Amino acid sequence: MEHVKAMIARLVAHDTVSSKSNLGLIEDVRAYLADHGIESHLVPNEDGAKANLYATIGPNVAGGIILSGHTDVVPVDDQDWSTNPFEVVEKDNRLYGRGTCDMKGFCAIALALVPEMLAANLKRPIHIALSYDEELGCLGAPFMIKEMAAKLPRIDAVIVGEPTDMQVAEMHKGVYASTIHVRGLEAHSSQTHLGVSATRYAAKIINFINDLHDELLANPYPGLPLSPNHSTLNVGKVNGGIADNIVARDCIFTYDYRVLPQEDHASIVGRIDALIGELEAEMKAKHKDCSITQKVVWTPGFAAPEDDEAKSLAMRVAGKNQTIGVPYGTEAGQFQNDGGFSTIVCGPGSIDQAHKPDEFIELSQVELGTQFVRDLIIHQSK
Ligand SMILES: [Zn+2]
Repeated sequence: MEHVKAMIARLVAHDTVSSKSNLGLIEDVRAYLADHGIESHLVPNEDGAKANLYATIGPNVAGGIILSGHTDVVPVDDQDWSTNPFEVVEKDNRLYGRGTCDMKGFCAIALALVPEMLAANLKRPIHIALSYDEELGCLGAPFMIKEMAAKLPRIDAVIVGEPTDMQVAEMHKGVYASTIHVRGLEAHSSQTHLGVSATRYAAKIINFINDLHDELLANPYPGLPLSPNHSTLNVGKVNGGIADNIVARDCIFTYDYRVLPQEDHASIVGRIDALIGELEAEMKAKHKDCSITQKVVWTPGFAAPEDDEAKSLAMRVAGKNQTIGVPYGTEAGQFQNDGGFSTIVCGPGSIDQAHKPDEFIELSQVELGTQFVRDLIIHQSK
């Protein structure tokens, strides 16, 4: 256990908040793996400030298992921490620190067990895959997944080690996150006929989104292990206008669409986009400089098929005869869709502690997670 705890502390000590580079951590991991004779493959982002890393332990043959985790963590700004978030503190059978639970704990377990993997005489490989920018909408992993799918022999299972309390999670919603910028035309508020109000047009779109949400409410899928068991739409942020007596030039708002994996997001998004198109045309007819622009991040949902190899493997190894759904998004849908890999979500720690001040992982969860990876090593050695 001590070497696992030491590895958690080592990873947490790298401040890899998503807005910063993760290269310090990646280079540290690369050096650690090189010390054990393992070559790392880096898949950097466009400007080279961040990178994914994957590495193969054991023979590079078909039947591998990918242990997947993200290296970035959420910010600690404006959070009231009792300890330094980037220094692991052990207290009351817990390890405190940013990322202990989400999800450097799992990454560290995989890395700390590399010597055991090497000693185990693996018949089939274990691949470790570490991504960047997961917390920004799973932006980094797809580049690595594409390369792994192209270069690695057949993969049997991907374990995404997000915190599930070591339960086997076979389902989560997709997340379609859009930021919409309505650009109108300023005028004195007594001269509304000379302006084009951005807040007025934004409000039309927001009303439409809220009505669509009520339509989704009426379409639940009973029996799904997800709460709520329907898709949702939420306008989370609105920012528009600068003064009482000015027709607003700009209004920027966001909406977040959580999509059941059983549903296609294109139909709802298509209806919103159609309205946006109509309203933009109407605005432009009043003044050519008016516009409505969108920035979208789409993270696909995830549902394991009925007879799924990763699911049955994880259930066997974790000793579970039931699966759960989780309320958050992960890279699992990307491994499944982009890579064509059989994928499951299962990892130590509770999502209740993620993203919060004084984030921690129970040592009992670290032990269960370690046992889980040890059992996967045995599985790959037979
Ligand atoms: Zn996470």
